[in-house]
Amino acid sequence: MGTPRESRTNQAAEVVDRLEEAYPDSTISLRYSNRLELLIAVILSAQCTDERVNTETEHLFETYDGPEDYANAPQNELAEELNSITYYNNKAKYIRSACQTIVEEHDGEVPDTMDELTDLSGVGRKTANVVLQHGHDVVEGIVVDTHVQRLSRRLGLTEEEYPEPIEQELMELVPEGYWQQFTHLCIDHGRATCTARNPDCDDCVLADICPSEKGDSEIDLASGEPW
Ligand code: SF4
Repeated sequence: MGTPRESRTNQAAEVVDRLEEAYPDSTISLRYSNRLELLIAVILSAQCTDERVNTETEHLFETYDGPEDYANAPQNELAEELNSITYYNNKAKYIRSACQTIVEEHDGEVPDTMDELTDLSGVGRKTANVVLQHGHDVVEGIVVDTHVQRLSRRLGLTEEEYPEPIEQELMELVPEGYWQQFTHLCIDHGRATCTARNPDCDDCVLADICPSEKGDSEIDLASGEPW
């Protein structure tokens, strides 16, 4: 078991420092070329890998151009285009409905406030945060996906279980200038080393400050269960 820094604020700062050094080019891995494509890619990425989404959106973005195209697409046709993606039927519905709202209420533009974004079908706070950060350069919060959730708990930054309270706690700990990057760093480390089932603690840059480190700790703080 590693020894965390004396306060959670210092622990968060140390985690950011070390992960920044380990992953200097960390950034979003979804591919898009405008705000609407970003919104659609993020909706599609719920419980699906970014890699799979990127493969599907390559032809999707060539076929459909602008919110009217999606809003007017027949449900079956759009769902068929997305059929290798998890929950493709529901996601096709969300995309059609969100695009309808964008056309009818926002002059065809992806809105730039948390309230307006979360009013769109299929858009929760996490999706809205990603679109605000990468589409509008507005950082209102911290995107808490499955990697951020797992690593924050393992590293002793939070004991909360669900994304929204975790985000509130992290916003108190992580310096505001790092709110966006914190997510990407956790995602990179979560994919490369601190994986859900079999983290490689022996080869982890955070091992000496991680209270879940497998060498000594019997408990995975992410799940609260023994390793
Ligand atoms: S890989 Fe192990 S030591 Fe590193 S952050 Fe994850 S649980 Fe902690």
